[in-house]
Amino acid sequence: LRVNPLRSLILAAAGNDAIRKLVATTPISRDVVRRFVAGETTAEAITVTRTLVDSGLTVTLDYLGEDTTDAELAEQTVQAYLKLLDRLHAENLAERAEVSVKLSAVGQLLDETLALNNASRICAAAEQAGTTVTLDMEDHTTTDSTLRILDELRRTWPWTGAVLQSYLHRTLDDCARLAGSGSRVRLCKGAYAEPEQVAFADKHEIDVGYVRCANALLAGDGYPMFATHDPRLVEILSERAKWHDRKPGSFEFQMLYGIRPDEQLRLAGEGHTVRVYVPYGEQWYGYLMRRLAERPANMAFFLRALASR
Ligand code: FAD
Repeated sequence: LRVNPLRSLILAAAGNDAIRKLVATTPISRDVVRRFVAGETTAEAITVTRTLVDSGLTVTLDYLGEDTTDAELAEQTVQAYLKLLDRLHAENLAERAEVSVKLSAVGQLLDETLALNNASRICAAAEQAGTTVTLDMEDHTTTDSTLRILDELRRTWPWTGAVLQSYLHRTLDDCARLAGSGSRVRLCKGAYAEPEQVAFADKHEIDVGYVRCANALLAGDGYPMFATHDPRLVEILSERAKWHDRKPGSFEFQMLYGIRPDEQLRLAGEGHTVRVYVPYGEQWYGYLMRRLAERPANMAFFLRALASR
């Protein structure tokens, strides 16, 4: 089974300015966006976080934005995270809610040192607030740089989390390197359109890669974070965790806000730590396009909403 050509098409459209303008100005987009995005403001993000935490879930918050080529915009993103971390602390949510950061939103495409400095400020604020940071992983051209920045950050904040993508050929090696004590690794399939020189295109190979990587992480001493909505993988991971004698609490499941909410609660009800990835902010376009590309049903939801206008 090959990856859906629709996926490549939508991901290509994500980079097209005319399509971006069309989607952004279509009134229906707001409703569709709301299904996957918590809101545009810190206050809205906090309200959604409170509801999720009260229902027994944990949260990682993402201030939307990526591929910034302007240092001023990167600074605005840092300020948004500092404000968010302050609110999480003030609202007593820091124990159950951390933040996810895209390095390309804090200057990685401009200068790696700028991104490191900005990410350091976010980590310092997270430490003060009593929570942690996970570095999202973006397309393969940034993987080495992101892992270098991760290593630097972990010298001061060893709890800084990484994301590894099972569609990349390199990922089993990265898992082995990052499976040590104190590490936090989110394992996902990967959401970007990647060339076949670096990534598997075949769904089955991506899934097999996921299970191999999960085994490597479970066999290590770190804290694996399994980010997937795939029911078959969730079942295999639960079984593999038992086999590795991993108790609930020594690893976690993660899912995206708005996707399989019943399953999130079911797993939490079984005693698992379940973390919901909650994006918020005005720059929702790239995020929304990746969600639409992932699943024909998400696209159908978008088209139905358009047709009902
Ligand atoms: P898929 O192969 O998309 O779906 C498998 C099965 O899951 C489907 O057949 C269906 O049964 C079920 N399913 C999927 N979606 C739905 C739905 N909407 N409703 C009902 N059932 C559904 N990617 C990155 O590249 N970098 C990151 O930093 C990153 N961070 C992430 C953080 C979290 C918490 C999560 C959950 C994902 C993240 N991703 C990231 C995205 C990830 O790489 C995948 O693109 C995304 O999760 C889709 O893959 P999947 O494992 O859910 O399975």
